[in-house]
Amino acid sequence: MAIKELSIKIEKVKQSRLNEVDFNALKFGREFSDHMLVAEYDNGKWSQPTIQPYGKLAFAPSASVFHYGQAIFEGMKAYRSVNDEVLLFRPDANFRRFNRSAVRMNMAEVPEEIFMDGIKQLINLDINWVPKGEGQALYIRPFLIADDEFIGVKASNRYKFIVITSPTAGYYSGAVSVKVEEHYARACEGGIGAAKAAANYAASLLPAQKAQMEGYDQLIWTDAKNHEYIEESGTMNIMFLVGDTLLTPSLNKQTILPGITRDSILTLAKDWGMKVEERQISVKEIIEAHQRGELKEAFGAGTAATIAPISRIGFGGKDYELSDFNNWEFANKCKSVLEGIKRGKIEDTFGWNQKV
Ligand SMILES: *Cc1c(COP(=O)(O)O)cnc(C)c1O
Repeated sequence: MAIKELSIKIEKVKQSRLNEVDFNALKFGREFSDHMLVAEYDNGKWSQPTIQPYGKLAFAPSASVFHYGQAIFEGMKAYRSVNDEVLLFRPDANFRRFNRSAVRMNMAEVPEEIFMDGIKQLINLDINWVPKGEGQALYIRPFLIADDEFIGVKASNRYKFIVITSPTAGYYSGAVSVKVEEHYARACEGGIGAAKAAANYAASLLPAQKAQMEGYDQLIWTDAKNHEYIEESGTMNIMFLVGDTLLTPSLNKQTILPGITRDSILTLAKDWGMKVEERQISVKEIIEAHQRGELKEAFGAGTAATIAPISRIGFGGKDYELSDFNNWEFANKCKSVLEGIKRGKIEDTFGWNQKV
């Protein structure tokens, strides 16, 4: 689809904060680049977006986001390539998912030119914030919130679309231990699990903390009805290599966030001629595969880490250990090929990258 030329009002910072940041000690989500993008929607119309200094915004205490939680977001990254270009990985997929989330939450959809052109112009202005270190990237956080000054329960007439960016280090934490959650649920059929809604995260914080107090890093979410089928791992999609088949839960019940990393891995695996199954996967099936010695690999998939290998699965009071992920052929190949494509080191045969 052709993108209309978008004029954006730009107010630059008087003094960049770039030299205050220690790029050798980046922590996820703590440092924010000089500028942000803001666009407003009021009664059916989007304003011309502005790029302005990153800083506090004023909201009325009656703004509906604070009361009824209409809030969605996206997470994507800009990577510095081996040729020193700045590349976005599949931003069109983030754009489409953003508006699917907006529709589910009964919010105004953001026009393509505001989302795509807005983000590209914002990154161009803060181009020196795209870090150059090994594994580093500029994390991009677009979000949309309801801004009606009205506390009656209804969909808002006013929204704010905002994009902030944050330089991040290569995400490396080793393998994670996960507990199968058999009481709480992240999402239910008919709910908002397939939307990247803030509320899904709010619901996950208490169960995640409880799992951490039991010595696990994260949860494996299961279906809300019977806690029998696997859905996601923490805030990532989940995949298993059983024998020589790649398994991942199917998306058809709308309880799982359709990850772009998930889709990219499935695309690569099929391209490499692997057996791939997207279907319901029971906890029992995975535990039995482990007992037969056929559970070769298990990992989370998402933009933050790309691949987060799982070292241990806790279920029914027992722990099931996986082998050392350093020797996993598939997960490590996926990680290095995806990283290679994002950095322009490996040919982008699927047309995933977009230059800023
Ligand atoms: C964002 C997200 C993912 C991963 O999506 P990517 O597009 O791969 O980053 C998976 N699960 C949940 C719940 C998420 O919010």
